[in-house]
Amino acid sequence: MSHFEVRHYDAAGRLGELTVPRRGVTVETPALLPVVNPHVQTVSPATLESEFGAEILITNSYVLHGSDDLREPALEQGLHDLLEFSGAIMTDSGSFQLAEYGDITVTTEEILQFQHDIGSDIGTPVDIPTPPDVEREQAEEELATTQERLELAETVDVGEMLVTAPVQGSTYPDLREAAAEHADGTSLDVFPLGAVVPLMNEYRYADLVDVVAACKRGLGENRPVHLFGAGHPMMFALAVALGCDLFDSAAYALYARDGRYLTVRGTEHLDDMEYFPCHCPVCAEYTPEALRGMTDRETEELLARHNLHVTYGEIRTIKQAIRDGDLLELVESRARAHPDMLDGYRTLLDHADQLEETDPVSKDTFFYLSTESARRPEVVRHHRRLDRFDLSGDVFVTEGSRSDEFDENWRIAAPFGPYPRELSETYPFTAEVPENLEPQAYEAAADGLARLVELNPDAAFTLGHDRWPASALDRVPDRVDVRNLAERRDENPSG
Ligand SMILES: [Zn+2]
Repeated sequence: MSHFEVRHYDAAGRLGELTVPRRGVTVETPALLPVVNPHVQTVSPATLESEFGAEILITNSYVLHGSDDLREPALEQGLHDLLEFSGAIMTDSGSFQLAEYGDITVTTEEILQFQHDIGSDIGTPVDIPTPPDVEREQAEEELATTQERLELAETVDVGEMLVTAPVQGSTYPDLREAAAEHADGTSLDVFPLGAVVPLMNEYRYADLVDVVAACKRGLGENRPVHLFGAGHPMMFALAVALGCDLFDSAAYALYARDGRYLTVRGTEHLDDMEYFPCHCPVCAEYTPEALRGMTDRETEELLARHNLHVTYGEIRTIKQAIRDGDLLELVESRARAHPDMLDGYRTLLDHADQLEETDPVSKDTFFYLSTESARRPEVVRHHRRLDRFDLSGDVFVTEGSRSDEFDENWRIAAPFGPYPRELSETYPFTAEVPENLEPQAYEAAADGLARLVELNPDAAFTLGHDRWPASALDRVPDRVDVRNLAERRDENPSG
């Protein structure tokens, strides 16, 4: 039985609901899970709930298991009382410690049982987080171990606690996809994509996109996907557009400890700031100078609260964008904050056919904002759907007005390509497009025309274009009669 339901899609991004039966709550996704360190609470879980509306958090059961101070209280009181948090609590297993220190002292059965006993709502087995770029043999061997652990996890009786099935496979897309298919075939409930933190730390967003896209291909649509360790709000929109539902953030606290200030455009250092570009209660009340004048503890807490505000704010921005159908416009604008993010967005569009599968057929107006817009799923879909039309006789495909010389009159518009005139008022052909378009937009339209021509060998085509660039005209099949409407206007200024 699936505990996850998608309510609304935009590209592969979705608004959904994760039902957490042990706690009797549902969590709206995309959701942020702030990481709570049981020993050091920069912002208390009660504050996360009251001030930030946190519905779910994540803490580390391995730390609790190994703590002389907290192990018994956790077992006696349960996590919710210990942390003073009434929402859903997910627990990690120590896999991160395994990756950092090379060794841990619990098995999957022990740690799952312990997570159950302390009242966790979503538990995690001990998987092997294989870093990026390792030899394939290592990635395969470690993946086999992770898969054994998942099969073991299925056999542990943990009542209503949901259990995660981490997906590994390093930077090998085929291994990630196979790992995801295997995880999908287990009876486990939530699907974290593991060991992606090194990619994010190095700003390798293009590689991250390929890894996530591969994992998504192996997972069923109703599978909740957790991008493990993704805490920087700058890349949330990109990850959501690929179909990630859950994010955990240790970044809000770790960055605050280092005096770093998160924004959706990147990271600033408090020492370098003269102004706070944010409307949250912290930034409205204090100046950077005032924050620098406080004790380290006060500065850290206020920075952490700002970091949380901006992080939750971005999640809400993304949810509204999915509602409005302009998630890709949001990704596009976020991608402009950093060249590596732009690489990530461009790689996302390499997977446009994958995004197209769930992208709504109709949305609000399509905004063409950059060269990349020409590669959006809507363009891919339209080109694919050209096979629905059966044309014969003389067909005029034009940017200008219709002509009675022809049997059929179609419109053509960059970046979509040719379409029947009766679809002019439907999505995406109502697009807002700038006056000055790049050659890529016309090239995409020419590719659409080439496909229509190929699909209709018995029809004769004439293209009426208004000053298309040579790079686009080069892509028009030879058998199309090409007319430059602008030249004709120049020859007949009165007509
Ligand atoms: Zn702020």
